[in-house]
Amino acid sequence: MKPVGILGGTFDPVHHGHLRLAIEMAEALDLAEVRLVPLYLPPHREPPTAPAALRLCMLDAAVADTPPLTVDDRELRRARVSYTVETLAGLRGDLPGLPLCLILGMDAFAGIEGWQGWREIIGLAHLAVAKRPGSTLSPSGAIQDLLDRHGVTDPSDLHRRETGCLLIRDVPALDISASAIRARIAAGRSPRHLLPDAVLELIERNSLYRETAK
Ligand code: ATP
Repeated sequence: MKPVGILGGTFDPVHHGHLRLAIEMAEALDLAEVRLVPLYLPPHREPPTAPAALRLCMLDAAVADTPPLTVDDRELRRARVSYTVETLAGLRGDLPGLPLCLILGMDAFAGIEGWQGWREIIGLAHLAVAKRPGSTLSPSGAIQDLLDRHGVTDPSDLHRRETGCLLIRDVPALDISASAIRARIAAGRSPRHLLPDAVLELIERNSLYRETAK
């Protein structure tokens, strides 16, 4: 069974780093689809700059005509602090029998020990981690333990089992971040070609990110 990929994030705004990561993983791991799941409020950092409804509109515009990519707004509908473990448990209930694969950039994976219920995550989904410019992993303690117990290198393992595999993948790196895009806009510089034109149009039409660079 082809796994369903899940890429969670703030998407404030969605950019080509996210979209290429999702497409590269979909192709490398032969995923049925990749659901982009915008969070409502992150537990450990400042709230997003753009309102949830606009972050969702930007995502919808970004994935239009890109078949392996879809948007899942379940965290926005919960409208409170978003925990990945809850989202995965919900998806597991909605998609019984299907492998799930949580896609993470290396920076996100390196901080996984701080996530609520992180030990349960590998029991609910596979993890596919992408190397990201500027982010390295010095595995120690719990992360090393995850690698030792769950690490695989063959993507077909993710098709044979529903959960429990951890795969680290070298995907072509795009040094793009949402925070750098927000900072560019706040400084009056152009973010064109770092993100889809349709997303930039929404940013301009709604005067997003002009005030503060977070
Ligand atoms: P910010 O700069 O505000 O922290 P971000 O660009 O990192 O935002 P997020 O929405 O926080 O974007 O990231 C969601 C997921 O996408 C995370 O797992 C992150 O590691 C990954 N990601 C974001 N940008 C890239 C990129 N350029 N290459 C690979 N992975 C990325």
